[in-house]
Amino acid sequence: MRETCVIVGAGQCGAQAAASLRENGFQGRIVLIGEERHAPYQRPPLSKGYLAGELAPERIELRPASFYAERDIERVLGTRVEAIDRAAGCVRLADGRTQGFDKLLLATGSRPRRLQAPGAELPGVYVLRTRDDADAIRAEWAPGRRLAIIGGGYIGLEVAAVAVTMGLQVTVLEAAGRVLSRVTSPPLSAYFEQVHRRRGVEIHCGVAVTGFEGDVRLRAVVCGGERIAADVAVVGIGIVPNVELARDAGLPCDDGIVVDECCRTADERIFAAGDCTNHPNPLLGRRVRLESVQNATDQAKAAAANLCGKARTYAEVPWFWSHQYDLRLQTVGLVNGYDQIVERGDRARNAFALFYLRDGRLTAVDAVNMPREYMACRRLLPQKARLDPARLADASVPIQELM
Ligand code: FAD
Repeated sequence: MRETCVIVGAGQCGAQAAASLRENGFQGRIVLIGEERHAPYQRPPLSKGYLAGELAPERIELRPASFYAERDIERVLGTRVEAIDRAAGCVRLADGRTQGFDKLLLATGSRPRRLQAPGAELPGVYVLRTRDDADAIRAEWAPGRRLAIIGGGYIGLEVAAVAVTMGLQVTVLEAAGRVLSRVTSPPLSAYFEQVHRRRGVEIHCGVAVTGFEGDVRLRAVVCGGERIAADVAVVGIGIVPNVELARDAGLPCDDGIVVDECCRTADERIFAAGDCTNHPNPLLGRRVRLESVQNATDQAKAAAANLCGKARTYAEVPWFWSHQYDLRLQTVGLVNGYDQIVERGDRARNAFALFYLRDGRLTAVDAVNMPREYMACRRLLPQKARLDPARLADASVPIQELM
């Protein structure tokens, strides 16, 4: 009998895992089940080029339909998996069918955190996770309309950049003392705040949104005693990993589905990868839950190899990017736990890098329009070498010489 591997979640991770299973020589059935009706697509453009109307839907698809057909990857789209029956070795689908598995990969991703506030369900209040979300938001936009963005994280700021460029009046409301506080350092936050303000985006930090007002649709965002008039709001206050399937099947979850360094859950037939996991990273020396294309792709590759019986440890340096206006921010490592920041380049020319060191060793880098520094640091970081801050800061010293 042919073995069956079921993948739940047809996003970045699920689609990559299906492809990687075949690359690793998996001969059995691959059944890729996804709740969304669209073919697997990239999410990053949803807050960038796709939202700006620069990319057609086909341009954001991860792979053409022929790719799956040629590799005999069965796609079951527009179908939610409701439950895992571990004893019977099958998953139960929303339409009542069941699908047996010998091996199962959970690539269920994450969903936007909802703001628990009165009026959050009013028409005109959106979150941004799916292509359908982006289409709905975009349909509301016209020059002069007032857009309130709740949350000054990457998604909020990317949406702000697209919207203000299209002529909307944009206000960003951030609860923390600075934008991007969860993911980067105060100097980079200050830089991005200044960039957006210069383009006409209003940014208010330290502001807690307490509700939304409107009769038939949104009219204002409420922050305590204050009301900010708004025609449309986008709430971007972080994500929640989709762990319910695993949890209800009795698999350990702790801010993500708990997996080992081989992407295996507590059940040796069941693996998990991507946004939905809490996994160990040997290079960082701790467990993490990451929200990035890098993690979804690389963990999918590792999971696929392990599903094929090849012992493969998942150990990659995290990297991430964001695109706002003509700025390409590229980050390597996680920006926390540093004791020194070294700057190279020229902020005024919008080409600079911030190197984060702990005990003289590189732990992370934020590079704005400095791809060479970013690429070099992807190789430099795992070496954990001590670096000379003076040479690091000196843009006349080629970054490669520091390696
Ligand atoms: P997802 O992409 O979330 O895919 C999971 C899929 O599983 C979904 O389609 C979901 O519907 C499906 N699913 C869940 N539960 C079930 C179920 N029970 N049954 C069937 N299907 C199910 N990352 C970057 O590195 N750089 C960026 O610039 C960047 N920009 C982003 C911009 C936006 C607007 C968003 C939303 C994300 C961005 N990300 C970015 C993050 C990145 O897209 C995610 O980390 C990545 O998509 C995670 O992949 P995943 O496959 O783990 O999860």
